[in-house]
Amino acid sequence: MNAISLQVPSPIAPILWNSVLADLVTNPDELCDLLALGELDRESIRKSCEGFPLRVPRPYLSRIKVADPQDPLLLQILPRTEELITTDAAQLDPLQEKQFSPVPGLLHKYHGRVLVVLSGSCAIHCRYCFRRHFPYEDARIGKTQWQAILEYIEADDTITEVIFSGGDPLNSTDASLAAKTSDLAEIAHLKRLRIHTRQPVMIPQRVNTQLLNWTSETRLDVVMVLHSNHAQEIDHHVEVALIKLRNNGITLLNQSVLLKGINDDAQVLAELNERLFECGVLPYYLHMLDPVQGAMHFSVSRQRAMQIKADLQALLPGYLVPRFAVEEPHAPNKTTL
Ligand SMILES: *Cc1c(COP(=O)(O)O)cnc(C)c1O
Ligand code: SF4
Repeated sequence: MNAISLQVPSPIAPILWNSVLADLVTNPDELCDLLALGELDRESIRKSCEGFPLRVPRPYLSRIKVADPQDPLLLQILPRTEELITTDAAQLDPLQEKQFSPVPGLLHKYHGRVLVVLSGSCAIHCRYCFRRHFPYEDARIGKTQWQAILEYIEADDTITEVIFSGGDPLNSTDASLAAKTSDLAEIAHLKRLRIHTRQPVMIPQRVNTQLLNWTSETRLDVVMVLHSNHAQEIDHHVEVALIKLRNNGITLLNQSVLLKGINDDAQVLAELNERLFECGVLPYYLHMLDPVQGAMHFSVSRQRAMQIKADLQALLPGYLVPRFAVEEPHAPNKTTL
């Protein structure tokens, strides 16, 4: 893809992303009032929040249709009583991640790449999140832990790529991310830095000058894997932010989760991937939901997923069809349908 020109001057008001973070919507009553959801049972929403609180950044909220309880963006953030259901198939740690962690805060599961759990928190709480039961507080990375992570990577020259993950790694400050990136760049066998983040889609103001600076100054090739599930999430502000990242030389990919009632439809997925391409982003994975407790009501059957995949392939050029991915705890890679 060639660099995409910005025909429209950026209309993003100079709001600092951390002030957006400090002003998240966390109160179910406020959510219902702002979105005119009078008919919803607030008591049951409040109860469903227990254990995994409501959390929505206001720029995301502004893309939700008012007075529509079935809005595909609302359904991703609205706590529902189904979350309290426990079943045998659902687990607390579906990917059995603990066993792949040789040092705290680092997961080494696949050949050539390691994942670093940088930030424990997210700007948004997606109700289907497979990390909703993850003990983030235990994984918080301090100075000593970061040293141990660097030593682990240094000692293994088969590792060529480090993935900043979380939580959302872009919840950390640019100063901290820049320092970590420059430590990594000193390790000669590393080639790529990958950032798994939903932040530019949630809070487009996060794509600020500092972020653009440290990602362009490093010798490492930077890949950003975004997370968007529906075309309605990508308004003009998000588009401008994504095009800035892309024009900064970052390779942009997207991963989505296949979610019942939200994007389990070939037409909806076709619109999402066409929209992403307009913003310089190629599809990467479409994940089947992990069997996590409290999120089973979003689950789509394998058979239905196969049908959606066939329909999507008939609608789009091959390069706009994401890989339909399933994660099996002991496979050497993510497997595809
Ligand atoms: C998903 C994942 C990766 C990255 O896998 P890719 O197929 O390279 O995107 C790496 N480590 C862990 C632990 C993962 O869960
Ligand atoms: S942004 Fe990702 S890690 Fe954070 S709550 Fe949503 S799905 Fe989970």
